[in-house]
Amino acid sequence: MEKIAILPPATLAMLGGGQLGRFFVAAAHEMGYTVWVLDPDTDSPAGRIADRHLCAAYDDVHALAEIAAHCAAVTTEFENVPAAALAYLAQKIPTHPSADAVRICQNRIAEKTFLRDNGFAHGPFAIVLNETDIESASDDLFPGILKVARFGYDGKGQAVVTTREAALAAYRNLQSEPAVLEKRLALDCEVSVVIARDMQGRVQCFPVAENQHTRGILDVSIVPARVTAALADEARNIAGQIAARLDYVGVLAVEFFVCAGRIFVNEMAPRPHNSGHYTLDACTVSQYEQQARALCGLPLHDPRAHSVSVMVNLLGDCWFDTGDKAREPDWKSLYAVPNLKLHLYGKRQARPGRKMGHFTVLGDRLDEVLNVALTARQEIGIG
Ligand code: ADP
Ligand code: MG
Repeated sequence: MEKIAILPPATLAMLGGGQLGRFFVAAAHEMGYTVWVLDPDTDSPAGRIADRHLCAAYDDVHALAEIAAHCAAVTTEFENVPAAALAYLAQKIPTHPSADAVRICQNRIAEKTFLRDNGFAHGPFAIVLNETDIESASDDLFPGILKVARFGYDGKGQAVVTTREAALAAYRNLQSEPAVLEKRLALDCEVSVVIARDMQGRVQCFPVAENQHTRGILDVSIVPARVTAALADEARNIAGQIAARLDYVGVLAVEFFVCAGRIFVNEMAPRPHNSGHYTLDACTVSQYEQQARALCGLPLHDPRAHSVSVMVNLLGDCWFDTGDKAREPDWKSLYAVPNLKLHLYGKRQARPGRKMGHFTVLGDRLDEVLNVALTARQEIGIG
């Protein structure tokens, strides 16, 4: 069944209705597909532009049965969809990525164990299932970061812990949920790679992005990353090997830490990634079209960046920079910047820390593009 390409105007299903899903819907529409979105939010960014929005929980049996009955294939934009929902769908229709791959990526304990067991370089960590695990953790892990195993994102569910006592307090604060304790690393920089892998195991990589985070949330992505060619190659190779070990089909993002010139895997996302938004404007194919191609069994593009680029996230904070009352930022200032592409996700309510949109500045010289992007970022009220 899976060797046959699914062609337009077939109906594809997307689990999750956030901005990553919205860009997938747009890309799949452009290719001629019909797209259904499952998301419990009545007003989700992807649901609003989908051909059909199934407004139900991700484990809603009726919604899943409808998808199985009417859609040609299903994918996800959200690692926290219940793996059981993917396992159910996989019995009925092509489902990529697999429930097993998502199960690993959605749980930091499973993810770190996978990295360790398969010999992928990662930072020192301990699994925390109870207070004894913290009491007996190596001294080397402090100062560290305690991270809940499930449902953390954008730095949520994390606490910086300088001492063992602080780690115990933070663990109790996190309701004693399963967690990992990581050593806090001194980072030279962070990079990420988005790759796509098809059903025959062929891999295509996007250029490596250099990512700057503010308060645990991606702020700026610079492409190409300002690292050596050898290090960028290593990142791409590791990402491909991880995908192969996961028997992965679809788009996978791998985040890395660079410390003292060496590279360590931070985490994986079984979907397109915020740091891959630049592919929409700077590459011959976007990560979202590549996701549709992998899902449908179409040949993957060999993505080329035709421009260097800098992407800046627009968080809800920009809506509040003149006080407590939200007001629309002055988009005119961004539209006035040459070679700047603005994307807004259509989220009706701005909240501090919420990803509302992004812009990407394109050009030929990275230092110039970075300057333009950072100036535009300041003008719209960030930083
Ligand atoms: P999330 O799921 O929220 O993206 P991450 O584990 O990627 O969680 O953490 C968010 C950011 O916090 C990272 O991109 C990095 O900037 C910082 N961070 C996380 N873990 C560490 C660590 N062990 N050492 C140093 N910085 C870290
Ligand atoms: Mg991360």
